[in-house]
Amino acid sequence: MKNHEATGETDVKKPVNFIQSIINEDLTNNRNDGRVHTRFPPEPNGYLHIGHAKSICLNFGIAARYGGLCNLRFDDTNPSKEEVEYVESIKADVKWLGFDWDDRLFYASDYFEQLYEYAVQLIKDGKAYVCDLSAEQIREYRGTLTEPGKPSPYRDRSVEENLDLFRRMRAGEFPDGSRVLRAKIDMASPNLNMRDPVLYRIMRATHHRTGDKWCIYPMYDFAHPLSDAIEGITHSICTCEFEDHRPLYDWVLEACKIKNPPRQIEFARLNLSHTVMSKRKLRQLVEEGYVRGWDDPRMPTISGLRRRGYTPEAIRDFCERIGVAKANSIVDIAMLEHCIREDLNLRAPRVMAVLRPLRVVIENYPEDRVEMLDAENNPENPGMGSRQIPFSRVIYIERDDFMEDPPKKFFRLAPGREVRLKHAYIIKCERVVKDEQTGAIIELRCTYDPATRSGMATETRKVKGTLHWVSAAHAVEAEVRLYDHLFLKESPDEDEDFKANLNPNSLETLTGCMVEPGLASAAPGSRYQFLRQGYFSVDPDTSGNKPVFNRIVSLKDTWAKIKKAQENR
Ligand code: ATP
Ligand code: MG
Repeated sequence: MKNHEATGETDVKKPVNFIQSIINEDLTNNRNDGRVHTRFPPEPNGYLHIGHAKSICLNFGIAARYGGLCNLRFDDTNPSKEEVEYVESIKADVKWLGFDWDDRLFYASDYFEQLYEYAVQLIKDGKAYVCDLSAEQIREYRGTLTEPGKPSPYRDRSVEENLDLFRRMRAGEFPDGSRVLRAKIDMASPNLNMRDPVLYRIMRATHHRTGDKWCIYPMYDFAHPLSDAIEGITHSICTCEFEDHRPLYDWVLEACKIKNPPRQIEFARLNLSHTVMSKRKLRQLVEEGYVRGWDDPRMPTISGLRRRGYTPEAIRDFCERIGVAKANSIVDIAMLEHCIREDLNLRAPRVMAVLRPLRVVIENYPEDRVEMLDAENNPENPGMGSRQIPFSRVIYIERDDFMEDPPKKFFRLAPGREVRLKHAYIIKCERVVKDEQTGAIIELRCTYDPATRSGMATETRKVKGTLHWVSAAHAVEAEVRLYDHLFLKESPDEDEDFKANLNPNSLETLTGCMVEPGLASAAPGSRYQFLRQGYFSVDPDTSGNKPVFNRIVSLKDTWAKIKKAQENR
């Protein structure tokens, strides 16, 4: 066996998935003169989602691995649904993920003239005909999986008549839907896609690039293989629902006499638990106001994940880990969350933020005193240095970190108990102050032990609990948005109405949170670990000095814990 590393060769030849095995075989057989050229072909009818990220990483990744090229091509053959906004968002998302199409940005609509010429040639070769059946009749004539289809009464029109009719279809002489151009293949084929599929339909719709120039538009199954061929694509990678279309893909290329035809390879689309992935359904969530927009941080869109605080590195890592296979499966969303935790663990500065503040007065700390304490930014990455944080007589701690009547294993603050304040001192709870009327806890009265300052040589005492805190006089008020899975059910698609599975508590907005003063000027998009709470990013809604934070992910997979607890019951 050859040691690629020792010979300085890359491990290109060692396939990590079945697609690479196919490509290696093609390279061995010197197909396409050793070229590898892929494309990512989104339809601009929505925003990209994490499933598209899988396809993007796969297509651009394969090109990079083999020293080949990958095009970005908009599959814009369906004008009624396509919008410029989507084109722009798709370009931004692919770039943000870290991929570059250089000067190879294409639109299937750029090929309309060429596609028309191919269709004319098919007619001349007796391989396509104009059919006057209605859409419903075409369906009836097609037959079923168990019954062969019947030939259309227009199947044997002469070449001259077909050429004339097709030209007049283009010229706008016939109403929408009155005629189509069909391939003449085999009405008895066991594969329904081969029973004289429609290649062109009449549709008066303004196209975002070609305007009203065309009133006939090619179907996906005709436009896609030819667009691939025109661009010199060698491997046309798509998802498994196109497997049954592959014979048609190949038929179109052969009938159009394409030399070195591209090869279609299918892989399983990504499904994520607690998520829907179809653009149609995502659009519904946006348009019906279930979320705030395509970039709502709960959406599985690239723009939603970006706004939530996900990094391109974490998404690429995720796509790498899930791998590529033929069999459909559902990936646990916890895997995606694991990837962002891993990425941010060493990168995100660790700071203190109190989400539900409880006032604490340290009675033996001088009223006018402020101490600046040294706080390391990331103990797991010493290179990130440290910062100074203010400590004073009045601080806030988390409401949950105090219990008046705690159970045995509660190691946080309680009357008469001691805890350490992170980067600061040990304090002891002396007294609880309550609202006389409601009985609600207003503040705690504590004392501190000056000999216990973190980092001091005299610091020897140990206590079980360490709490995060902020100095009340210095803290910055913030809004914090806590997100949870958008859907309660693991497979929300299972039910007829997927929206019935929406999680009513997928967003909890906390106001009056108190964060370290250094976060006042945090730039939108920057990411932090809030000690003991999770990873957070600054939302673009931030204005003035009132930061808004999105929780990207909690520190641990709480859902896994819940599931385990349920299993053990
Ligand atoms: P949707 O069903 O979500 O609307 P689509 O397949 O219609 O998606 P396109 O814009 O046509 O979306 O997809 C562009 C490329 O991304 C295609 O090659 C498609 O196969 C791939 N793709 C779409 N969804 C997924 C997914 N969930 N996993 C992997 N690849 C996907
Ligand atoms: Mg599609």
